[in-house]
Amino acid sequence: KPPTHFFLKMDFCPAFHPSLLLPPPSSRATHLPNPSIVFSDQSGFYSLDANVPGLSKVILNKLNMKDYGQYRAAVEGKAKGISFRNYKEMFQRIEETFKFCTGCNKLPDHLAEGQTLKRCVKCLNVYYCTKDCQKKDWPQHKKVCKMLRLVAIDRLVEWLMFTGDLPLPTEKWSKSVAEVKNWDDWLPMQGDLWPRLDAILSGTNMATLWKNASRARPDDADLRQSLWRLQSEFLSRVLTVGMAMQRFGLDPSSKPITIHLAGASHNETMGARLTDYDELTHMFPGHQGIEIVMVGPEVVDSSIMRPPLSAFGPKQRVYISAYKGLYHQFWEELVEKEEAAKPDLVVGFHPGFHANQGLVEGWLPTLLLLRDYNIPAFFSMYSEMELKYSLQILLELEMHIRDSGSNPFTSQKPEQVQACPNKTPVYCNSHYICFQGLLPCNRIR
Ligand SMILES: [Zn+2]
Ligand SMILES: [Zn+2]
Repeated sequence: KPPTHFFLKMDFCPAFHPSLLLPPPSSRATHLPNPSIVFSDQSGFYSLDANVPGLSKVILNKLNMKDYGQYRAAVEGKAKGISFRNYKEMFQRIEETFKFCTGCNKLPDHLAEGQTLKRCVKCLNVYYCTKDCQKKDWPQHKKVCKMLRLVAIDRLVEWLMFTGDLPLPTEKWSKSVAEVKNWDDWLPMQGDLWPRLDAILSGTNMATLWKNASRARPDDADLRQSLWRLQSEFLSRVLTVGMAMQRFGLDPSSKPITIHLAGASHNETMGARLTDYDELTHMFPGHQGIEIVMVGPEVVDSSIMRPPLSAFGPKQRVYISAYKGLYHQFWEELVEKEEAAKPDLVVGFHPGFHANQGLVEGWLPTLLLLRDYNIPAFFSMYSEMELKYSLQILLELEMHIRDSGSNPFTSQKPEQVQACPNKTPVYCNSHYICFQGLLPCNRIR
């Protein structure tokens, strides 16, 4: 029986947008959580319903859950007994969470008798209740239809991250870290990727996937590209951390480095492995030990759930640990008591604090702590728009912004806004902000 992990790890709203800034739904639906929160998936659920009223309920139904509380418990591995009968059912239910009319937002339950939602035959990603709805929507949809075709393939192929087919093992770096400025520099160091991708293409898990997905198998060229996009999303986080180390001039060959990943979510921690950041050893061969501590209220249990190091770790190894809780709590509980090393760098992937008041409030103590302790910090964003709003918030806090812009190691996998598919897809870690300490003019001398 397939477990629910793959379903639960789906990011229901990767791209927050100010237009999604919500008032909780007027219906005061009882299955929704309290909005004064720090969980990003919770905020995602609100965003879903803001665009397609009732969609969050559909997702919960497909998971046999009554409310957000059960969802959260399942994400945290506390709910038992939820699993699908077989892979067909799992893939089908996931697909059903995308079933609403992109034109008028109608869910299957709201259709007239005998009416069914029809999928766009080009992208196999979005649905329409009538030809008329499709026709009216085409001027918007045609801008993203090609891209959404890729997204629809990726969301199925992503399953191979759970079967262990992905990520692919990577090669030692033949160039120095200073020479590898972007993916085009990184890729040639991997030798011939195609035979390794082909091994996955002919594997049993790939066969199982397309036997059970409710669509035809794409051709091999499409699947290879999809595997690469998924691999790039995984590596984007690691290479972004390495890039952040360089931006702040941290040299791990001269001393051990401690990096905290603040606001780590279920996305990074569900099924996380102790080897997930090993690419840093390829990046900085001969380093004195790199420690990664994932900290966040959404951290879920996995093999990396172990105490952080209080002294130096093993040389030329990356040591990952995790702490479930807000960053400032982690700081008070462990860093101040010297049970965890002080960070040389704090990285936050998509903190999303621009998205709503609850998230800003959750992040505020952390941001002030980073500022007042003058800790080098590097946060990533999904889009230029998110970058702009995040910069505003940081500037209001009088942070000293060192640098910001587009990330050369952005994920290559487009992310669709589930409840708003015609919105231009975004990319994980596509933009970044480097900041440290107070704005110089506000420093007390
Ligand atoms: Zn419609
Ligand atoms: Zn389409």
